[in-house]
Amino acid sequence: MHNNYSTLDIYGAGLYGILLAQKLACESKIKESNIRIRLIEKNDKILPGWESVTINGLKFNNGFHGIEMPRSHILYESLSQLIPKNSLEKIDNLRLISINGNIVKSGHPLSKWPTDIIQGLKNLDKEPRLEKSIDVKEEQLFNSLESYTLGKIIKICSDRFSDKLTDSWHLFYPWFFPAEFYKANAYDEGTKFRSKVSEGYIKPYYLQPSTGLFSDLSLVIEKRLCEKNIEIIKGRSFEPNSYIEANDVKSENPLNIWASSSANLFNTFDKESAINLIASSRQICIALYTINQEKLNSWANKFDYLPTEILCLEDSIPTMNRISFPKQYNNISKNSYIFIEYFTRGNSITQDEIDSTKLYLSKIFNGVIEYKDCKTTRKAFSLKQKEIRSSKRKIELLSKKLGITNPYIYWGPINMAKCGIEAHNSFEKILKHINM
Ligand SMILES: Cc1cc2nc3c(=O)[nH]c(=O)nc-3n(C[C@H](O)[C@H](O)[C@H](O)COP(=O)(O)OP(=O)(O)OC[C@H]3O[C@@H](n4cnc5c(N)ncnc54)[C@H](O)[C@@H]3O)c2cc1C
Repeated sequence: MHNNYSTLDIYGAGLYGILLAQKLACESKIKESNIRIRLIEKNDKILPGWESVTINGLKFNNGFHGIEMPRSHILYESLSQLIPKNSLEKIDNLRLISINGNIVKSGHPLSKWPTDIIQGLKNLDKEPRLEKSIDVKEEQLFNSLESYTLGKIIKICSDRFSDKLTDSWHLFYPWFFPAEFYKANAYDEGTKFRSKVSEGYIKPYYLQPSTGLFSDLSLVIEKRLCEKNIEIIKGRSFEPNSYIEANDVKSENPLNIWASSSANLFNTFDKESAINLIASSRQICIALYTINQEKLNSWANKFDYLPTEILCLEDSIPTMNRISFPKQYNNISKNSYIFIEYFTRGNSITQDEIDSTKLYLSKIFNGVIEYKDCKTTRKAFSLKQKEIRSSKRKIELLSKKLGITNPYIYWGPINMAKCGIEAHNSFEKILKHINM
């Protein structure tokens, strides 16, 4: 016997909320009980994370974007029901790391790293302080960085994400370290996945829209959700104790479900906790450069296929985070686009950063680099890692007070694999909650 909920109101039409809505709408027990599913979004568009950005008159994804497979197989199962066949294409996944101009493959062991960079690293293997940044004092972490070359470079680049290194250490470790530092028995599914990739048990690949743009899928998905009898209400925020009237039906007994970052919930209903949670903020700025296609291809020929992305640690350009190579315009020009994401303190990148990037790119790709334009896309927040622990309890209490169930508590942007996994877990929790 279910709890007599007439409606499931899901707040937040990002990828996680959409996948949750579609799973609930397909559940036969929910259909048989005539429970309505509504997806309520405060903005006038669904899927904000998939919005594209226009730079130099051309549309691009809002940063490098790819569905990492097979890690995202749960997401893929749900997503395939919302998009036409062949909307996604398979792309070989080759992630590189560039450290002061030295290129290595992500997940390669120490033996394949340039000797200059790995100085002092061997002594650090299994260094417990590296893993537990939350419990380590800022100065301890900073001092230990001085004992190895990679650490010194991270120290300089750490300012890109946060004022204090302890608040962004998880964005450097283990991603910018050799395979020996990936832990197969890690708790996080992403770290486990990376570890299996670096041990050669899994060959990863990406799925990307065949047009190159994720935003091209949004309208199709919206239409498909409506066909599945999911009512989409846009321009409406969650308000406690208020009923939403849609299609002339007043929902007397809805179950309110929060399907967005809990930072958004704090931001609306407990501003003080929101402010207290934020450690620092930066702007994400995307810049577009070009290079002759043949030059880029001759560089790429050193590898088995065109690298998908290069994660950067350059002490001359600390704000430069990632390079990728959007391909959708390659057939209309003899030049290829190079796409760079920066995390900046100011509102945009400086002329110095542009000049240094051109120099850096021309050395890597051995060709003439032209700068086209840049766009500041959004703010990125780093959170106080210590506050996150106590904030979870606060959010549980706040959700209870507001009368909204929060099946998955998370704080910032989550990747698409996690959206799939957590939508599935939340679906199970909600079925239990409504006694089905
Ligand atoms: C630049 C960028 C690059 C990315 N790259 C990758 C990648 O390479 N690989 C990958 O797997 N993932 C990537 N992602 C993440 C991915 O594309 C999705 O955007 C993300 O997973 C969506 O998560 P979400 O549903 O939690 O959040 P969001 O997309 O933020 O959705 C939350 C929704 O809740 C709504 N909302 C907030 N408050 C309220 C309220 N009070 N009432 C109603 N609605 C509310 C918001 O408006 C929003 O629509 C990237 C994201 C970005 C932004």
